[in-house]
Amino acid sequence: MHHFTYKNGVLHAEDVSLTNIANEVGTPFYCYSSATLERHYTVFEQSLSELDHLICYALKANSNQAVIKTLSKLGAGMDVVSEGEMHRALKAGVSPKKICFAGVGKTKAEMTAALNANILSFNIESEPELHALSQVASALGKTAHIAIRINPDVDAKTHAKISTGKAENKFGIAYEQARQIYATAAKLDGIDPHGIHMHIGSQITDLSPFKNAFKLLRELILALRDDGHNITHADLGGGLGIPYEETEQSPPHPQKYAQIIKDTLGDLRLTFIFEPGRLITGNAGILVSKVLYLKQGSAKDFLIVDAAMNDLIRPTLYEAYHQIIPVNEQANDTPKRTMDVVGPVCETGDFLAENRELAQLAPDDLIAVLSAGAYGAVQAGTYNSRLLVPEVMVKGKDFAVIRPRPTYEDLINQDQLPTWL
Ligand SMILES: *Cc1c(COP(=O)(O)O)cnc(C)c1O
Repeated sequence: MHHFTYKNGVLHAEDVSLTNIANEVGTPFYCYSSATLERHYTVFEQSLSELDHLICYALKANSNQAVIKTLSKLGAGMDVVSEGEMHRALKAGVSPKKICFAGVGKTKAEMTAALNANILSFNIESEPELHALSQVASALGKTAHIAIRINPDVDAKTHAKISTGKAENKFGIAYEQARQIYATAAKLDGIDPHGIHMHIGSQITDLSPFKNAFKLLRELILALRDDGHNITHADLGGGLGIPYEETEQSPPHPQKYAQIIKDTLGDLRLTFIFEPGRLITGNAGILVSKVLYLKQGSAKDFLIVDAAMNDLIRPTLYEAYHQIIPVNEQANDTPKRTMDVVGPVCETGDFLAENRELAQLAPDDLIAVLSAGAYGAVQAGTYNSRLLVPEVMVKGKDFAVIRPRPTYEDLINQDQLPTWL
């Protein structure tokens, strides 16, 4: 469910016409709907109501201050994977007591900053990292509350680049090594191993991998408690998928996901942490772009638009499908043609869609690339010296630019000449 709908033949974000935003901001731009963000968060939260829990939104999915603040006002904590993300969360007013720090390569400087900020928990991904955190925490005279990330070696049945819970992935500690590393952790200075963590991948649309992983987690928590560890927190990660294609079967409702948790872990007196990213922001954002040219190639037709892979890399990086619709509504019987939707970047991999059936479009028409709110703007870059795409947030009848388009001067002034030139 989202709040991007046609009104009087023009696509709106809530009550604001996207044509109006395009006239004011220029194209391309990302547009987020506050009502959709709030709705997704609330539906997820309500589905978990029978479990003692904290939602730590994975802010790598979309880390704009306005998005973080919208969610933190609803009570969300944050899952961060770098010091930069931690500063973003703190700047938006998130309590450090609601921040979890994940990631396989935390530096000692990052650990120091997070300990000084008194965050809730570190998710530990390797034994050397555990020792490093112990050293840093002891030197500061602090205790790091940790969960150890377990890699259960389950197949999340998602794209290879977003699968994280298989043995060959870089994430977490092997299931068989878990008891050993908890024994080590319990003896280390400055470490309180109060939790356990698992995140098996992203865009998961089948609940069985979750179920298998949670069953394994149950066995492990019981074994760790037998070993004398006081495991009070289970961080179950994120990963629940969203619908990208209109035709596909909807991914499971969060209530079904919650039911699996109740069935597998519900009796263990745990506080649960959840780290949804895509589920919250994915369908709450779109990328609006303008048609530049229609090019008839000898083998294919190309719709050349002003947004490119540097603005939205998901199609080329993950072979992701994004629905593309015209901002001006077209009649159902408008003739369609099959095209590649491509950007101006000098790369063959620069496309937003391949072999897509779209109604006739002409230069200056606007298109909307849907479900672009997660892993969109955050992965944007300036390749080909293109300016970072601006971001806009809508709330009811109002909209605000939440990240302006930089100028070419801003872009070029990031470079510095050495004195000899
Ligand atoms: C990326 C990530 C998430 C969020 O994943 P989604 O699929 O967006 O829900 C949660 N936890 C960790 C550790 C992650 O790396």
